[in-house]
Amino acid sequence: MRVVLLGPPGSGKGTCSKIIGEIYGAPVITTGDMLRAAVAKATPLGVTAKGYMDRGELVPDDLVNGLVAKRFREPDAADGFVLDGYPRSPRQAEALERMLEASGKRLDHVLHVTLEDEVIIDRLSKRRSCPKCGAIFHLENKPPRMNGKCDTCSTALVQRDDDKPEVIRRRIEVYREKTRPVLDFYEKRGEIKTIRGDIDLKQLPAALRRVLGHD
Ligand code: AMP
Repeated sequence: MRVVLLGPPGSGKGTCSKIIGEIYGAPVITTGDMLRAAVAKATPLGVTAKGYMDRGELVPDDLVNGLVAKRFREPDAADGFVLDGYPRSPRQAEALERMLEASGKRLDHVLHVTLEDEVIIDRLSKRRSCPKCGAIFHLENKPPRMNGKCDTCSTALVQRDDDKPEVIRRRIEVYREKTRPVLDFYEKRGEIKTIRGDIDLKQLPAALRRVLGHD
């Protein structure tokens, strides 16, 4: 299965994509995580990407398209994938089309995860994550058991640099300007399915199965 998840930052794409990956046994490809890994390792891509990410802007299309094309060549992506955070601009959507066409494949689902701006701002500003294992917490709704430490590996939790209020606002604006047109692109082809990003975690797997017709 080849699935694309679209939606504003903090809408719950990451949580949905993990569940969908488990449903279909497909790898989840998260461009944000790939870029953060490149920044942490200070690779040439990471060094270029960092400035854009810190400001809440999109990393240039060519760099991200190249990253995804390379990831698609890895064997685990041959039979399917869940794309989380890509495509994020019309040029990325076109590049994805070309990559799929070149291998005679097509998308099976485009899922739009929706959530209101106020809820997004609250979620992101209170989000803390584990730099070691990637576990995500929310200071009120899903607080860590030990203050400031990861439940799984006890590493000190951090706030992402781009989860600071002024950058969150810019990321939402960038989503409206650059990523909404991607929704229009798939909507015109009648391919979009929608799910709310605040469905209770316990109900979410069943809700995702329903919307994807995988009951
Ligand atoms: P995310 O974790 O998906 O919110 O992404 C964090 C940041 O990484 C974004 O604000 C962008 O700067 C960058 N980024 C992630 N995915 C993409 C993409 N597909 N195109 C351009 N920039 C991206």
